[in-house]
Amino acid sequence: MSAESHRRLLELDRRHVWHPFTQMQTWPEDEPLVIERAEGNYLIDDQNNRYFDGVSSLWVLLHGHRKRAIDEAVRAQLDRVAHSTLLGLASVPSIELAAKLAEIAPAGLTRVFYSDSGSTSVEIALKMAYQYWRQRGRPEKRKFVALDEAYHGDTIGSVSVGGIQLFHDIFRSLLFDVERIPTPYSYRWQGEGDCGRACLKAAEALFAREGRELAALVIEPLIQGAAGMIAQPTGFLARLAALCREHEVLLICDEVATGFGRTGTMFAVEQENVTPDLMCVAKGLTGGYLPLAATLTTEDVYSAFLGPVAEKRTFFHGHTYTGNPLACAAALANLELFEQEQTLQRMKPAIGALAEKLERIADHDHVGEVRRRGLMIGIELVRVRATKEEYPYADRIGHRVCLAARRRGIILRPLGNVIVLMPPLSMTVAEAGMLGDAVRESISEVTSH
Ligand SMILES: *Cc1c(COP(=O)(O)O)cnc(C)c1O
Repeated sequence: MSAESHRRLLELDRRHVWHPFTQMQTWPEDEPLVIERAEGNYLIDDQNNRYFDGVSSLWVLLHGHRKRAIDEAVRAQLDRVAHSTLLGLASVPSIELAAKLAEIAPAGLTRVFYSDSGSTSVEIALKMAYQYWRQRGRPEKRKFVALDEAYHGDTIGSVSVGGIQLFHDIFRSLLFDVERIPTPYSYRWQGEGDCGRACLKAAEALFAREGRELAALVIEPLIQGAAGMIAQPTGFLARLAALCREHEVLLICDEVATGFGRTGTMFAVEQENVTPDLMCVAKGLTGGYLPLAATLTTEDVYSAFLGPVAEKRTFFHGHTYTGNPLACAAALANLELFEQEQTLQRMKPAIGALAEKLERIADHDHVGEVRRRGLMIGIELVRVRATKEEYPYADRIGHRVCLAARRRGIILRPLGNVIVLMPPLSMTVAEAGMLGDAVRESISEVTSH
């Protein structure tokens, strides 16, 4: 694209596009890239520069861009119908996909309720849990529990269970009250004793005190993504799941970020042998193609919503584009690829190669901690390693490291002072090496002056 067309696009972007999670006053200073197309694991801008997609286009890409099988599935569906509603009608791709999800999900999750984003999939789980207890004759069970630092999306319900001060505090008075369990953030733990055990102890005390009124616990399993990739100790999730069972509290696992292979297994809950009552999936569901989400649940939860029409036990919720056929077709092709290409096996060497590079990064003077579950990685930068002193927010240290990585042909997006790596499952061993080296160099470049 000519320099003139590029300037025109940037000018229109500056005038009309309000970017998410972005301070628009400083946005134009960073010379935004204008992405025009993509190939495999690379994004290509309108100036023909190629960039490795190091955060999978915000955690959604699995098998690479323009994956033939998914392209063809979407095109074939376009020749049939782009959209028909699930309110009062069924559709071929939504049926096939629901059956597929029930097949690959932890045993017992047999019912699939579609929506369009991670936020709505959580919103739906919360409303289902609340209505479930009312219709089971336990209306006192109306409170939710979540972790400190949780992130479950940006709608008001999902923000209520969220716990990230920077994003959520301004809306506090709009939100419903939520009980909290401390986050097992061992690197910055200030309390007594072992961090994970102390957090579980707090959870036990909370359940003992409030269990009778608790509707559900909502949690990101194994690793809290947006909080800065805070990984939970082994057994943490399983213990919370057991507490939920003891106290008759529904367990909602938000697998929006962790689902579909990102932590090394198809779903993160598998690593702790946990079957939640409700499971939220979105981001990777269509392999990065189209917005689609699902809230999966059990026959037990589902059956609480059955009854004669006059009893009004119906779940009165649904978004206009729910179960969109194009998105379902993309998702189905995306999930079939896991079997056809043995993705979970084939990604292991690249994970190993990246893990080796991360060990070297962990030694860096300005790296406090490297946290990882599968291909979800957080590198926490610190001004002073010995004291864990943080860089000030206004320094934008994470952002500057990502700009340095961009100059090395890699797209990243930080979470404050945490550099996030979330490469596609299709990353090769060579790309893993290149990514690790470039990130280390970028950290050195930015932190040395
Ligand atoms: C991204 C994310 C969400 C929100 O998903 P959207 O599609 O952005 O609404 C919810 N939960 C978790 C764990 C996420 O990472």
